[in-house]
Amino acid sequence: MPQLDVTDGFDVHEYREGFKLRKETRETTHLENRAGYDCPACGKPFEKLFVSEKRMQSFQSPPGPFCLVRTDDQLLLFTHGQGRP
Ligand SMILES: [Zn+2]
Repeated sequence: MPQLDVTDGFDVHEYREGFKLRKETRETTHLENRAGYDCPACGKPFEKLFVSEKRMQSFQSPPGPFCLVRTDDQLLLFTHGQGRP
């Protein structure tokens, strides 16, 4: 599957068909990876993507491996699910 291109920031509208919107607030978005896109940090498919435009962000510990990617004005958290590579 294609890897997400976040060189100029992440825009969900470029990948609308591949994601299911789980939750959205003014500055944060929770998405589920339906198309099997690959994580830009490690190159493996991820399960969920959390996007934050806040300057500071606190998290519950994700269940399993995760990757962080920073763009000019976003923080992206990719989770790879429990027990999966
Ligand atoms: Zn990753």
